[in-house]
Formats: sequence, structure tokens, C-alpha cells
Amino acid sequence: MAVTVDIEAVKRRLIEEREGILEERRRLVEDTSRSLEEAVDEDGNDSHMADSASETLDRGIELSLEDNADHLLAAIDAAIGRIDAGTYGACERCAKPIAQERLEALPWATKCIECKRLEERG
Ligand SMILES: [Zn+2]
Repeated sequence: MAVTVDIEAVKRRLIEEREGILEERRRLVEDTSRSLEEAVDEDGNDSHMADSASETLDRGIELSLEDNADHLLAAIDAAIGRIDAGTYGACERCAKPIAQERLEALPWATKCIECKRLEERG
């Protein structure tokens, strides 16, 4: 069977993505703890109500980004695991090969586009 995907290149890309996310998350955690400190400094000052509200909102977004990063890291780790196991690129639901364009756009995809659509429809 001809291999259409350069699996080593995919693996390198996944590892790079993973490092990028880890780096991004480190920065995010630093930013979050810094803004928490700033918020404590302003405590008890009612004139900063609006500011605090937007800070809380920002922090919510930051935390959800962190949450997404965790999901993405798990997905990337799983994809690297599938490469090592030799099952990479097969849909985990119907076992058909996932389209190459899809893997290029989303190297950690676990399902083919048809199964993904079925899943999203519920
Ligand atoms: Zn499928």
C-alpha cells in the first residue's frame, strides 16, 4: 500500500505544534498570575468596578484558552501515539482513511469528515 502522507513530517509538525502550545500556555499562566496580582492591588476601590469586570472577562477567556490548550495537547499526544502505533490517518469510527487535506489542516483529527459531520449533527 502506498503511503501518501509523509508520516515523519507529520510527526515533526505535531511535535512543533505541541511545543508552541506549551510555550503559549507558559506565557498565559504568567500573564494570568500577573493580572491576578494587579487585581488584588486594586481591591476595595469602587471606581475600578468597570475595569475589574472587563478583567474578569479577560481572565475567563484566558482560562478557556488554557483549557483548549489542554485539549489540543491531549489530541496532539494521541496523534503522536497513533503515528507510533501505525494507526495514524485512519478514522477511529469507520476506520476509513481520513482525507489528506483534512489531516493537513488538522493533523490531530481522529475522524474522517463524514463521521465528524454525523457526530456534530448528533
Ligand atoms: Zn469515518
